[in-house]
Amino acid sequence: MTFRSQEDPRDPSATRRVWEQLSEEIRSCQKCPLHATRTQAVVYRGSLSPRLLFVGEAPGAAEDRVGRPFVGRSGQRLDAAVAHLGLSESDYGVLNLLKCRPPENRFDRAAARTCRPYLDRQIELLSPPVTVTLGSPALHALAPEAPAMLQAAGSPRKWEHGALFPLIHPAAALRSRRLADRWTHDIDALGRWLAGSPAQPV
Ligand code: URA
Repeated sequence: MTFRSQEDPRDPSATRRVWEQLSEEIRSCQKCPLHATRTQAVVYRGSLSPRLLFVGEAPGAAEDRVGRPFVGRSGQRLDAAVAHLGLSESDYGVLNLLKCRPPENRFDRAAARTCRPYLDRQIELLSPPVTVTLGSPALHALAPEAPAMLQAAGSPRKWEHGALFPLIHPAAALRSRRLADRWTHDIDALGRWLAGSPAQPV
């Protein structure tokens, strides 16, 4: 597995160690009340030098049980999209704003604020050229100035770490035919944009 080091590109093993330390810190975190109700923290799945980083909201029941992000029904929808885009395992990674499942899957804004430094450190270490947000909480956490979800979805934007491509959450695509069509439409837009980028400006 390759790893792009931010600290010393000649020493990937050092950055890998930092990544493992951070992951361990997340797994043992007790900074917010969600640690009391989780089965386990959900850190990351995917490449450690991803071209694309998908950022979701929070682990659900399946993720809490398995310890990996997006392994339930939303994850199946995401994996189908990733296959459709022709991405291989080494091309992408998946994580969430919240590392622990909130009770009843209710997004917890206070917990998200406490958890935020973990996300920032993960993004800094992974350094993905393209970050794909899934749903409004992820989009507006990373780009507070972005317009409403359905207005922003499907078009690339600039942000401090390169390009950000907002998508609706795959769970939304499971809820209605209209949003399923929107999901498919925006995945195709992402595919076209990736085929043209980085030549194509954001
Ligand atoms: N929804 C998310 O936002 N993240 C997951 O990991 C699973 C479902």
